Amino acid sequence: MLPLCVPSAIPFWRELQRENFTRIESLADFLELSASLRLHLLKDPRFILNVPYRLAAKMAKNTLDDPLVRQFLPLLEEETAAPHMAEDPVQDKSFRKTKKLLQKYPGRTLIVTTGACAMHCRYCFRKNFPYEVETTGYAAELAAIHSDPSLTEVILSGGDPLSLSDGALATLLLALDKIPHLKRVRFHSRFPIGIPERIDDSFLNLLAQCRKQIIFVIHCNHPKELDTDVIEALKKIQRLGIPVLNQSVLLHKVNDDEATQLQLAEALVNAGILPYYLHLNDPVIGSGHFDVSQQRGEELIRYLQQHLSGYGIPRLVREIPGELSKTVYI
Ligand SMILES: *Cc1c(COP(=O)(O)O)cnc(C)c1O
Ligand code: SF4
Repeated sequence: MLPLCVPSAIPFWRELQRENFTRIESLADFLELSASLRLHLLKDPRFILNVPYRLAAKMAKNTLDDPLVRQFLPLLEEETAAPHMAEDPVQDKSFRKTKKLLQKYPGRTLIVTTGACAMHCRYCFRKNFPYEVETTGYAAELAAIHSDPSLTEVILSGGDPLSLSDGALATLLLALDKIPHLKRVRFHSRFPIGIPERIDDSFLNLLAQCRKQIIFVIHCNHPKELDTDVIEALKKIQRLGIPVLNQSVLLHKVNDDEATQLQLAEALVNAGILPYYLHLNDPVIGSGHFDVSQQRGEELIRYLQQHLSGYGIPRLVREIPGELSKTVYI
């Protein structure tokens, strides 16, 4: 067994994180974008550019139509106002129990563990709140969970919980371990898609030591995001007896076609990862160009049903504020 505490040296994955593209000009140069394509870029976005090097390396050159380019490059379309769009479409603000605890549904509650992510997805519904939460200290959240025996599951979300150091995660997991009515801890993380090196021995050891059942939900929208390194990293989590599920967002010109949805679902199930949810895009300001209709989503799911085993089909959902669960369409 490795020691529970993190080594004092800066872990390798933090070094990799420093290599992220955060300047639009550098990324445009790297992608060899022509002058005319550069005119479509949003130069100074409020939600800053943040793209891990290995994701940029998988993007096609000199195009804005690549599914990874679309997800991560700020485009002028973000500035197009749409009347149905809101700053906080899922009304997270009104469901806060404490500063970092959100509860919308019975039995489970969600800790916004950090505001930081491995990457910045342009459609993110949290993009209007940089969620300035400090990375350590969940005393109020833990007290609230402790005092509510109806809670059986805690979701570690964010931002991305894997942005936290292993030391901070260890402290949080140990505290959750001590709450008897809690049975499960769920991670919601996109980190392994951008920096699979994050799933190192130290992190795996933290998971192995947790006495609650862990469920690990990743967020992957396109088969290009899954490569051998990513799958290998997730296999290490699966070998601990931890189910790995995937949620994706249905995004126009990223994954709103039959072939991409089928390739994604097949790549996932071939890696033993079960598709969980396919989310309709939340109507957040600046993401209207990603919208796909509910009807189109249902067509895509029906197509999957005709081509894939039942366990490979995600549920098409939307988050409607005030409902006691996600709204499932098919
Ligand atoms: C989506 C969400 C959950 C999880 O819902 P499941 O249907 O259990 O996956 C829990 N809490 C909040 C606040 C959510 O937004
Ligand atoms: S990783 Fe998740 S929380 Fe972070 S920007 Fe992307 S969608 Fe939003």
